[in-house]
Amino acid sequence: MYRSIAALKRGQSTCRACIEAGYPLESLPVIAPGAGQRAFLFGQAPGIVEGEERRPWRGRAGKTLRRWLDLDEDEFYATFYCASVTRCYPGRAASGRGDRTPSPQEQRLCERWRDEELRLLKPRVVVTVGGLAARRLLGVRSVGESVGVRYELGGAVAIPLPHPSGASSWLNLPENRARVAGAAELIRAELAHL
Ligand code: SF4
Repeated sequence: MYRSIAALKRGQSTCRACIEAGYPLESLPVIAPGAGQRAFLFGQAPGIVEGEERRPWRGRAGKTLRRWLDLDEDEFYATFYCASVTRCYPGRAASGRGDRTPSPQEQRLCERWRDEELRLLKPRVVVTVGGLAARRLLGVRSVGESVGVRYELGGAVAIPLPHPSGASSWLNLPENRARVAGAAELIRAELAHL
């Protein structure tokens, strides 16, 4: 158990639990930049750019996410402690299409970081990004059913967003894009109360 987020980040930055369990990770852990954030953003796993920089949401998906939330880079990182289901770049999928989804065992191994972060940060607003994050943290069945809904999570308001990577065709439907805009509006309203 860590006594501060700074100490947790030091421990997290050298974590190799999945490598030791035999999984082929392709980066060191990506660490949330900044300090003092009161909102918690929970994604799936870092991409290749994030793995290289060891900072979250550096690629195209991060730009789309900031556009949805109407936040510039500085505001985004000052507002959100950026975490994810797993913290190391998992590499490409065997099919060659997109990145590998972390296995259930990797997800479980990495859960200790999320649980410690939530205990230490006690965020008032939680935003999940993508289906895996919403399922792991909120227990919803699919992100499609949960976008635009407000959940309660241990005293925090939790609001799911779909993944902004563009890999899913769900975002192609105008009615779904309208639901994303509604969810982003809900998030902005909650952030305004912090
Ligand atoms: S994905 Fe998580 S548990 Fe696995 S090595 Fe990286 S930081 Fe550790």
